[in-house]
Amino acid sequence: MEQETARQSVYLDGHATTPLSPEALEAMTPWWLSAAANAHSPHVFGQRAAAAVERARGQIAGLLDVAPSEIIFTSGATESNNLALLGVAGSLDPRDGAKRNIVVSAIEHKSVLACASELARRGWEVRFVPVDRNGRVNLHDFASLVDDRTLLASVMIANNEVGTVQPLSEVVSICRDRGVLVHADAAQAIGKIPVSLADLDYASVSSHKMYGPVGVGALFVSSAATIRPQPLTFGGSQEGGLRPGTLPVPLIVGFGAAAAVCSQRMIEDGRRAEVLRRRLLDQLSRKQVKFSINGHPADRIPGSVHLLMAETNALDLIMRLGSRVLVAEGSACSSGNIQHSHVLKAMKLSADEAARCVRIFISRYNTLNDIEYAAEQIALATGGSHQ
Ligand code: PMP
Repeated sequence: MEQETARQSVYLDGHATTPLSPEALEAMTPWWLSAAANAHSPHVFGQRAAAAVERARGQIAGLLDVAPSEIIFTSGATESNNLALLGVAGSLDPRDGAKRNIVVSAIEHKSVLACASELARRGWEVRFVPVDRNGRVNLHDFASLVDDRTLLASVMIANNEVGTVQPLSEVVSICRDRGVLVHADAAQAIGKIPVSLADLDYASVSSHKMYGPVGVGALFVSSAATIRPQPLTFGGSQEGGLRPGTLPVPLIVGFGAAAAVCSQRMIEDGRRAEVLRRRLLDQLSRKQVKFSINGHPADRIPGSVHLLMAETNALDLIMRLGSRVLVAEGSACSSGNIQHSHVLKAMKLSADEAARCVRIFISRYNTLNDIEYAAEQIALATGGSHQ
């Protein structure tokens, strides 16, 4: 135990949440303390808070390449996905309209899939687009599933398990040809790869996946979208009435500051993460750890590593690594039972293979030292050589 605390832990679970950037923390601090105010209060502090919110909105819009007026603040990508799917489809009745189905990829986050199930319950036909072995949406299948009865297609930009980046512009052009609205869950892509959301109708973003605070996110609603989502909650007139509730000023300011940092250093962060990723894989191989790599070899989030261990169960590995190295399992464990990940299943991995998958994200703050230490610890924990 003493040994475990002698060295700082190496955190490699950035797909679950990224550490807060110091710039975001610094930007947020006064808005919790000396400058705290409700952005809708008419007094000077309220006006300052409102101005800070608008500045953050501009920083986020800049990163996404959209207009500030197209950004709706939410509590995170889960809420944004709900607002996009239920807010758009929820206002129509599939039984008496021309639009009767929605199309989602098989590897969407649960917050999209659960909304799709809810829409199915309300009478929508839900069509799932399969993916290939690398976790890329099959465009041929996508084109055959989307038709003039499709209201909305939702395809994530980057997958949260294997890091594969989807062919977004092809997805958009198929949808445009057929008059179909397009939503993208952009939670894992934004701040990690340059993306313009300008061609989409809706997109979901999460602050805590891009070095901002947890508990805040955004829904991009294009001014050109032919349907504006209906609100899912009711109250005040904040965010154009689409998302009522007091704005969390410090979180929004931190989100904005994190976006500004990403705009500046995302490319360099990505380059660095790829160098460290190669180093990790080389070191693991040199130490005779046996693994193969899942996900698309080129079209993926920089720093994202998804390993299929040849011999080691992922949960056993996580337990053996203790607090020294923090990685994620490929399949979720709930109440002691391993649940085969729907993403890995869609990629045709067996339940046994999925149980041996380890998910890693090398963040902006990981060092070469961290990576060497992580490789050494993984080798030790899997019985590889320790040189
Ligand atoms: N979509 C994706 C792709 C994600 O990775 C996550 C977070 N795991 C979410 C949505 C949900 O985001 P939030 O935690 O902001 O609700």
